[in-house]
Amino acid sequence: MKKIFFTVLGLLIINTVTAQNSQEQSDSLMLRKIYDMSLMQGKSYDWLDHLSNKIGGRLSGSYQAQQAVEYTKAELESLGLNKVWLQPVMVPKWTRGSKEFAYVETSPGTTRTVNITALGGSVATPAGGTKAQVIEVQGIEDLEHYGREQIEGKIVFFNRPMRPDLISTFEAYGGCVDQRYSGAAEAGKYGAAGVIVRSMNLRMDDYPHTGSMIYGSTPVSERIPAAAISTNDAAYLSGILKMNKDLQFYFKQNSEQHEDVQSYNVIGEITGSEYPEEIMVVGGHLDSWDIGDGAHDDGAGVVQSMEVLRLFKEIGYKPKRTLRVVLFMNEENGLRGGNKYAEVAKSKNEKHIFALESDAGGFTPRGFSFDADKAQFAQIQSWKELFKPYLIHYFELGGSGADVGPLKQGDVVLAGLRPDSQRYFDHHHAANDTFEHVNKRELELGAATMASLVYLVDNYGIKRINTDVEEKM
Ligand SMILES: [Zn+2]
Repeated sequence: MKKIFFTVLGLLIINTVTAQNSQEQSDSLMLRKIYDMSLMQGKSYDWLDHLSNKIGGRLSGSYQAQQAVEYTKAELESLGLNKVWLQPVMVPKWTRGSKEFAYVETSPGTTRTVNITALGGSVATPAGGTKAQVIEVQGIEDLEHYGREQIEGKIVFFNRPMRPDLISTFEAYGGCVDQRYSGAAEAGKYGAAGVIVRSMNLRMDDYPHTGSMIYGSTPVSERIPAAAISTNDAAYLSGILKMNKDLQFYFKQNSEQHEDVQSYNVIGEITGSEYPEEIMVVGGHLDSWDIGDGAHDDGAGVVQSMEVLRLFKEIGYKPKRTLRVVLFMNEENGLRGGNKYAEVAKSKNEKHIFALESDAGGFTPRGFSFDADKAQFAQIQSWKELFKPYLIHYFELGGSGADVGPLKQGDVVLAGLRPDSQRYFDHHHAANDTFEHVNKRELELGAATMASLVYLVDNYGIKRINTDVEEKM
């Protein structure tokens, strides 16, 4: 009796192991197909070429942003998806105006020009420009230390650099970006005349990096202009200030905030064959800053997300669950697209189980970070082995992406593609965020990596939080 029992148990175990092995094998073959298609017959790089070189920088509310909407909609329509549509969303419109100009004047008539760029959302300087003495600080905390007495009428120069010792450059960025985002609102409280911020860049070069900033509750009449200065010029300014604290800094910028305008999220869908009510999203943001062509941020994420659906079509994989690509508008200066998509999803009672964003550049993929609960994450980690042949090892809990963030609710798992980040901030929000800095193979590997994860989520579903209910197989 005992013997029979153990024999049966043994057979059961063998059967289960064999079933698991064959499942793993078929998953691993599917991943191979996806990577082959992306690397040998990919479309992502051509799409990026068009977005970057034919359209260019796509700031919300601009003509280029509208062109990008029309182009990506037409390209998605050519893929034979079940549905392609535009989701209306009102977006802010801020324009830079004519190119900024700045110089340091060490003595009357002795000047040296420096490279600056207006921060997104900043007011213009007065028509004749802003000229004042400079006070260098290492962060917002320093403002209180110096007080109105030493700040009033001066230009506050925020010069805390990104930490080079942090391996995640996003962490280094996170440690500095408050200077750019809130520096002007905070310095304004002490009567500053303007704000100059060291660019969020780990490299020493001549490119100033723009990015969003807010005035918060500052009345319109008290808003002061803010610009970023290149890292080389930040070092120059800091050095010369030590010798001559009375030097004058001049800058002129012509930026302007306009009324909100109509724009769109671009959405394409392959409707699920078995569980159409379970929705998976892949996406990136269609808008970009205006001084480069937005190839890394976030043209790469846009074309990789589109490629996920195209790859499935090409290899003949029909998802069981509904798969949507969402190209979000206005991530950079408002997040209106991400908020709108989540708002509409909620009002329609749609059930999102998974949303994956690519918005960290088109560099070599290392893996993903997941916003998921323990049980969900354990399930996801069981797939990690499948990615090892592609040298994709990073599966960690963490943030996902700004645009998919508003979808956080209930059982949904949010994820972000995590490419190598070492060179990202060389280009981020700067004039050198351009097509030639995106490597074709790296971009294609990212698209295949995203498609592979989506395939696994589609095939196995996502565990529900706090229940013992088996996931659908
Ligand atoms: Zn971005």
